Amino acid sequence: MIDGFLSTFTLWLRIGILSAFFLFVLPILSQNKKSTKTNESNFSFKLKGGEIRLAVRNETELKEWDKYAFDKTKKILDAYESYLGIPFHQASSPIFKSLPSSEKDKIRLVLKDTVFLNGTRVGGYNNVSGELGKELGIFMELGLVPPGYPALLLHELGHYYFTEPSWLSEGIVSYLPYLLSKRGYLKLDADELQSVTEEWSLGEAIPKNDPPLSKDFHLSNPSLGPWFYSKSVRTQFIIHKELGYEGYKSFLKQVASSEILSTELVFKILNKVQRKDWNKILQGWVEVGPYSAYPPNSFMKIQEIEKL
Ligand SMILES: [Zn+2]
Repeated sequence: MIDGFLSTFTLWLRIGILSAFFLFVLPILSQNKKSTKTNESNFSFKLKGGEIRLAVRNETELKEWDKYAFDKTKKILDAYESYLGIPFHQASSPIFKSLPSSEKDKIRLVLKDTVFLNGTRVGGYNNVSGELGKELGIFMELGLVPPGYPALLLHELGHYYFTEPSWLSEGIVSYLPYLLSKRGYLKLDADELQSVTEEWSLGEAIPKNDPPLSKDFHLSNPSLGPWFYSKSVRTQFIIHKELGYEGYKSFLKQVASSEILSTELVFKILNKVQRKDWNKILQGWVEVGPYSAYPPNSFMKIQEIEKL
């Protein structure tokens, strides 16, 4: 035992000397490496339909983010698969279909200190389908998704399941991490859960000019962006309340299984799950007209959402 202890001790001593050497020399080497090529961490994990590769390009100093992001990516996609019963490979096939085969089943995350798109600082954007340029991936600023604050990452990953129409998909991918956590599909600690609810912008003031979501008003009027997201997530609370937990789940399953969706088709799915006057229920929210069943200040408090 003592021998063992001593030899272990000398071993650690040697490692100590060696690591002192590496600590001194390696930063010089890695600095050189860094200036020529940005580090990329590669991970892989298994989902229901097979393997998924995750490439994390981290251009910030906070390298521990990579492992955190990998962990969250795996967990949210696992949760989506079990909750919806739809494999990630199936849901994301329309996205991967249009990409080169080398990109198949590969998720790219890009973390930067500042994220610009066409010269404007946007904080983050999603270009997994290549519509916004050749560089593929989910681009995020570290300040928006530090470890322990995964809301934006969870939101963007949800878009592999939900893309169109945006009034629907933006609300769903913001709401689901919360719902999945509440229902035991996704483990989030209290701070992580809070990051999700903060992303909803529930306190956003109702603007004087308040167009319906189907007009995609966040594109024509970027200053109304936070209101668009706030309104779209609260539209999901309304749909959930009207359909109940099982009905809402069935609605989401049908939405995620449809390859191309229009607002008209969404209303058809809603009526298939439960026949109601959806035009009246969602008037002012999704379609043109004065607010009717739900005034614009509905679901502004977290207590109302906890009851769902
Ligand atoms: Zn989004």
